Amino acid sequence: MRRLHFMQEVGNVLVLRAAKTKKKKSHMHGYIDCHCHISARDFDKDVEEVIENSKKAGLLALLAVAEHAGEFTKIIELSERFPGFIFPCLGVHPVQEVSPEQQRSASLQDLDAALPIIEKYKDQLVAVGEVGLDFTPRFVSGESEKETQKLVLIRQAQVAKELDLPLNVHSRSAGRPTIHLLKEQGVEKALLHAFDGKPSVAMEGVKAGYFFSVPPSITRSEQQKLVKQLPLENICLETDSPALGPEKQVRNEPRNICVSAEYISKVKGVSLETVMEVTTQNALRLFPKLKSAIRP
Ligand SMILES: [Zn+2]
Repeated sequence: MRRLHFMQEVGNVLVLRAAKTKKKKSHMHGYIDCHCHISARDFDKDVEEVIENSKKAGLLALLAVAEHAGEFTKIIELSERFPGFIFPCLGVHPVQEVSPEQQRSASLQDLDAALPIIEKYKDQLVAVGEVGLDFTPRFVSGESEKETQKLVLIRQAQVAKELDLPLNVHSRSAGRPTIHLLKEQGVEKALLHAFDGKPSVAMEGVKAGYFFSVPPSITRSEQQKLVKQLPLENICLETDSPALGPEKQVRNEPRNICVSAEYISKVKGVSLETVMEVTTQNALRLFPKLKSAIRP
């Protein structure tokens, strides 16, 4: 009798243990940085240390987005140097850098240079990006530049569809046209990074099934209303490193992902653990290729 009781208890403990292990397996424990410029020159000197520190801060993976064809190979190389941790996204950003001081609106030539390389690495990509629209007056002087940006985005939305990949999207001073264009193009999977449009426009995106990622600069930005309104089920985390850090003019790093998570946890009144679990599940749903590739 005593022995039977003992055996039953051992049995229960084993069942409990099995349940716990099972839970751990289905819930990847950690954050995903859904939008980051790890190929930026700012990280050339200490990328190893930056990645190490981000892992210590609880990061499981980061999506390395591109701005122009000139950095595609560097991004692919970084993803091969940190396999299962850095995941490449290639695309043409609406704003192109001429020099560190000078930028211009993207052109069809930028797209022509990028498309063959995207095709070449298509199997390695987890998304097409960074793509989008940027109607900041200092980058666009007239309607024709806006139209060209739209054409560049439309073509990349088509490529993403052909490759069955989600889009990693930038929109600045162009919230409404960006969301409307994505919907018109029948885009089903998109991440709107650091969205600066109205919450009402963002909610149109939520209805279309889009996700919105929140950078650490949220602690000092005007987009706090947006986070309040967005359902947690549509929120992902990002750092946009080296930009959009918690402090202006200081290099942002992927380890600051917890600044975003802590902010969301406060605003939503849920635990940090919940923010981690839900945003990571969201990222895995949006970028399904990550699921089998992350090495926790
Ligand atoms: Zn970016």
